[in-house]
Amino acid sequence: MPTVTTVVVGAGHSGLAMSRHLAARSIDHVVLERGEVAHSWRTQRWDSLRLLTPNWMTRLPGWAYQGDDPDGYLAASDVAELVVGYAAASSAPVVTGTTVTAVRPGGKGFEVDTDQGRWNARTVVLAAGATRGHVPAVARRLPGLFSITALQYRNPDQLPDGGVLVVGASASGVQIAAELQASGRPVTVAVGEHVRVPRRYRGRDILWWLDTLGILDERFDEVDDVVRARNLPSLQLIAGSRTLDLNSLQSSGVRLVGRFAGVRDGMAQFSGGLANVCALADLKLGRLLDTIDEQAGERGERPDPTLVKEHALGLSLRSGELRSIVWATGFRPDFSWVDVPVFDHRGRLLHDGGFTRWPGLYVLGLPLLRRRRSTYLDGARCDAADLAAHLTESLKEAS
Ligand SMILES: Cc1cc2nc3c(=O)[nH]c(=O)nc-3n(C[C@H](O)[C@H](O)[C@H](O)COP(=O)(O)OP(=O)(O)OC[C@H]3O[C@@H](n4cnc5c(N)ncnc54)[C@H](O)[C@@H]3O)c2cc1C
Repeated sequence: MPTVTTVVVGAGHSGLAMSRHLAARSIDHVVLERGEVAHSWRTQRWDSLRLLTPNWMTRLPGWAYQGDDPDGYLAASDVAELVVGYAAASSAPVVTGTTVTAVRPGGKGFEVDTDQGRWNARTVVLAAGATRGHVPAVARRLPGLFSITALQYRNPDQLPDGGVLVVGASASGVQIAAELQASGRPVTVAVGEHVRVPRRYRGRDILWWLDTLGILDERFDEVDDVVRARNLPSLQLIAGSRTLDLNSLQSSGVRLVGRFAGVRDGMAQFSGGLANVCALADLKLGRLLDTIDEQAGERGERPDPTLVKEHALGLSLRSGELRSIVWATGFRPDFSWVDVPVFDHRGRLLHDGGFTRWPGLYVLGLPLLRRRRSTYLDGARCDAADLAAHLTESLKEAS
């Protein structure tokens, strides 16, 4: 049975950033990956997806974007290529085609079971990504419509002709809705809580402002309600110079309804609170832009308030008007194979900035893990450095 100081689970950018820091500290380790390096970027992204973060924000330990388009946005295939190149350049000890099926306390630390055999490790870093599209429990009662999550969506050809309901109006929801509408399908978007931002403000990318104002560096232990903040929807953005919001979607013919509330008597039901969620998103947008203006000196041009028309509270799932549903309702990690008591009663992994309460077990690559930047590829540099430092100290104390 192979023994190693640290097992890193997952060869996405987070696991590889961790590997780089462990190597720099001469900690022997292995990165176990169920597929190929950058598996999620190869298999769980739609064809047209480009990062919503600009190229200059694509930084990894010892690596930064050096191309001639720092303000451009990488395609998913470019990200896969980048991560593969990074693994090779780092000589990361990746073992591909190896699915971790259980992590449990044992030996001098942990037993890590895989479909290729067992490893023993003193410490384990979970860098397994958010690989499961979240579908609300009410969806299980839907009659036979074609139904997929945003992680399963590839392109419009996958869906039958006819009307589509996209549930969710964050980055994935608005991007997929725009693409489906452009394909000629009538699209309805069910809008819940969302975070509205303009792509550009005062001549700069919105992420430039968030970076420059230090907002992305706000730490998890400085945020008022970190549990809520970690569950906030992604910024409503698309790559490029245009702003994709509920106003532009409506201009292209997309219909809005309120939050998806459930199914009754063959009818999808929607909340009547569409105006409220849009007003709240507009209010928060205004506050963010006020903060930018305070720093920049004068008031910039503000986006129009979200236009909310009268909207349906129910749609028949049997009339044929709707043929498919895309659940763009968020992504969740799958830690069902982690057999260590580090979960709350709802099955959510408990951690304090990536340190679980079980000594030697760490997690990486989750939203707002240690700072707001953690939500993005760019966050792995600092997060992995912090975790590697803690891990090294704990090994010294234990020996
Ligand atoms: C739709 C979408 C859009 C995104 N857009 C952006 C963006 O615009 N900008 C940005 O900065 N970031 C973006 N992100 C990326 C996000 O920042 C990363 O997904 C997140 O940080 C996690 O990265 P990771 O390396 O931890 O996980 P992943 O890249 O998901 O890698 C995890 C790896 O672990 C492997 N794995 C999982 N379970 C096991 C197991 N049991 N055994 C072995 N291997 C396992 C997987 O195969 C995968 O290769 C996006 C993500 C998604 C889903």
